[in-house]
Amino acid sequence: MKNKSKEEKRRIRRKTLLVILGIIAIYCLSNLIITLIFAGRIPHRFASAEEGRELMLSNTEYYDKFTQNDIDFRVRKSGATMEELLDASSQSVQEYSFFEKWYLNSRIARMALKLAWNGYNLPETDEIVFVKADMEMESGANGYTHGTEIYLSGGFVTAYSVMGIIPGASEYMDEVLFHELFHCLTRCNPEWRAQMYSLINFTVADTEYELPPCVVEKYISNPDIEHHDSYATFVIDGQEIDCYTAWITTKSYDEAQAGFMQNDATVLVPTDGTDMYYTREQASNFDEVFGTNTGYVTDPEECMADNFAYAMLYGTKGKSGKGYPNPEIIQGIIDYLK
Ligand SMILES: [Zn+2]
Repeated sequence: MKNKSKEEKRRIRRKTLLVILGIIAIYCLSNLIITLIFAGRIPHRFASAEEGRELMLSNTEYYDKFTQNDIDFRVRKSGATMEELLDASSQSVQEYSFFEKWYLNSRIARMALKLAWNGYNLPETDEIVFVKADMEMESGANGYTHGTEIYLSGGFVTAYSVMGIIPGASEYMDEVLFHELFHCLTRCNPEWRAQMYSLINFTVADTEYELPPCVVEKYISNPDIEHHDSYATFVIDGQEIDCYTAWITTKSYDEAQAGFMQNDATVLVPTDGTDMYYTREQASNFDEVFGTNTGYVTDPEECMADNFAYAMLYGTKGKSGKGYPNPEIIQGIIDYLK
């Protein structure tokens, strides 16, 4: 009697193991098939560390606009030089492992599958090049872009490529990828960019605004923001004033002794060229302009990149299934892609 129950238990254990292995095999096989079929639908490739360094340093237009504040915060030293910054930047580039490339391909394939499933047509984009780099120079961001180059944090990619084995664990990676993809899409499609910005009440002007001295002093460059050419009407002290946004640090590096993300503020700069700025708290309609689907409102480009990622991943129902504070923004994005 005792032996029989032992045998029975062993049989159940063997069966359970076989079922688990079967599920894993089906999951891996379906992942393989989806990746092979769909990954190429979003044109992309991975740069080697050597090519990544060359690409990074070739973005001279970005570095040429750097303020001393930019350099200090990135090198984390007061009075740092451009040479030190470029040296540290180039050293930050890393090599993708085979496993990391496979993981990212599998996530890109899922993105393409989601787009196809929902009948969304993205505007055209040039080939996207993924570069792996540590994000010391960008205050620990998970990713950023230059043109159609997407730079992803080395630690972030490595951690997610390991966690990615767990179904559902890659949700945040997908959010980041859709967010960065948005920046590539707006650069390749200026008209679509203007349509996207209009969903949060911004108008793209035909002029590039020059930052006034009081902003330049504290300015922090964001590689995702290539232009200051779009404005919205903000209500400040009861008056309607056309302003564009700028991203500044509230302290100098000497005072802050930390990354710029820990000391940042979005300010509103009047389009008429006056040497002044307003804080976001001074604008009584700030939240009405940007909506409150995301707190990342340093620029219409960043706000819409987040909204785009939410629309693509979670549709009108939202992540929680309870919708959004501003569903019209999400619906507007979907309408433009249908
Ligand atoms: Zn961004």
